[in-house]
Amino acid sequence: MEETTRRQLMTIATAGVAASVAAPAGAQPQQQPLGGKQNPRDKYPKPPFPPQSQPFPGLAGQMSPRPDHGEASYVGSGRLRGRKALITGGDSGMGRAAAIAFAREGADVAINYLPVEEPDAREVVDLIRRAGRTAVPIPGDLRSAPFCRSLVDQAVRGLGGLDIVVSNAGRQKSNASILDISDEDFDWTMKTNIYAPFWIIKAALPHLQPGSVIIGTTSEQAYDPASDLYDYAQTKAATMNYVKSLAKQLGPKGIRVNGVAPGPIWTPLQVSGGATEGKVVTFGATAPLGRPGQPAELAGIYVRLAEDDGSYTTGNIYGAGGGQGQP
Ligand code: NAD
Ligand code: MG
Repeated sequence: MEETTRRQLMTIATAGVAASVAAPAGAQPQQQPLGGKQNPRDKYPKPPFPPQSQPFPGLAGQMSPRPDHGEASYVGSGRLRGRKALITGGDSGMGRAAAIAFAREGADVAINYLPVEEPDAREVVDLIRRAGRTAVPIPGDLRSAPFCRSLVDQAVRGLGGLDIVVSNAGRQKSNASILDISDEDFDWTMKTNIYAPFWIIKAALPHLQPGSVIIGTTSEQAYDPASDLYDYAQTKAATMNYVKSLAKQLGPKGIRVNGVAPGPIWTPLQVSGGATEGKVVTFGATAPLGRPGQPAELAGIYVRLAEDDGSYTTGNIYGAGGGQGQP
C-alpha cells in the first residue's frame, strides 16, 4: 500500500516538473520528484531548437521552447526573509530566475528592464506579488548614468531600503570580426556591461549596511572567450575582476561581493543577436551535458550568494557551466 502511494506520488510529482518547462508564468511551485534525483541530461530541452531570432533585447515569452525560470518549481524556505533586493535585467533569464527565487525566499524585489520588455516584466511582477512580497518595477536604459542613479533611488524608496544588489543586465552581440564592430556598438556593450554596474554600485553603496551583498553576473566568457564575442567577453572578464577587487575593498565594511558565471543558458540574450541563428539551433550541444542550461538552474546560486548562511563567501565566482570547466 505504502509502495503504491509512493509510486503514485512520484508520477504526479514528475509530471509537475516536466510541465514546468512550458508552465504558464503565473504558475505556483510544484513538489520535486521523490528522491530529488534526475539525470541532468534529460531534465530540459536539448538541441536542435527551432530556428528563431528576435530584435534586441528579445522576450522570454516569445521563445520556443519557453525558458524555465523556476515559475513552477522553485520552493522557498525563508532564506531571505525581510531582505530588499534590486535586480537589473530582472524581467527574463537569470535575473528573472533570481527575482522569483528571492521573492519566494521572503525578499521584496525591485526589477529593472528596458521599457520594451514590459510584457516579460509584468509576469515577474505578478510572480513576486503572488509570493506575498513587494514588487517594484523600474523600467529604463542603464546606458544613462542619471538613470542608474535614479534607479537606485527609486528602488530604495519603493523597497524601504536596500541590502541585495544583483547587477545582472547585459548586452551580447555576436560579430564574426572585430572589423564588424562599430565604435557605437563597442560603446553600447561597454556602457551596459561595465559603466552601468559602476554607476549603480556607487549609488547603492551609501545605502548598504553590513551584511549586505553585491552579486555580478559574469560568464564562462571571462575565462575562455569565443572568437565572435570580442567586446562582450572582455566585459565579462572585467566583471569577474571588479567582483574580486570590490570584495577586498568592502570586506572591512561587512559587505560581500560575488559573481555568477553561467555557461550557455537558454535566454532572450542568445536569440536576439547574442548568438548567430545557426548557433541558436545547436545551442548547448557542445556542453558535456548535451544541452543548454535553463535560468532556473542558477536560481539557487543567487540565493546562496545573497543569504546570511553564505557569510564567508566573498570575492568568489560560482559557476553553472554544463561541464565546460569555467570558472
Ligand atoms: P536576458 O536577455 O534574459 O537578460 C539580459 C537583460 O539585460 C535583459 O532582460 C534586459 O533587461 C537587460 N538589458 C540589456 N541592455 C540593457 C540596457 N541598456 N538597459 C537596461 N537593461 C538592459 O539574458 P540573460 O542571458 O539572462 O542575461 C543575464 C546576464 O547573464 C547577462 O549579464 C549575460 O551577460 C549573462 N550571461 C548569459 C549567458 C547565457 O548563455 N545566456 C551566459 C553567461 C552570462
Ligand atoms: Mg529581458
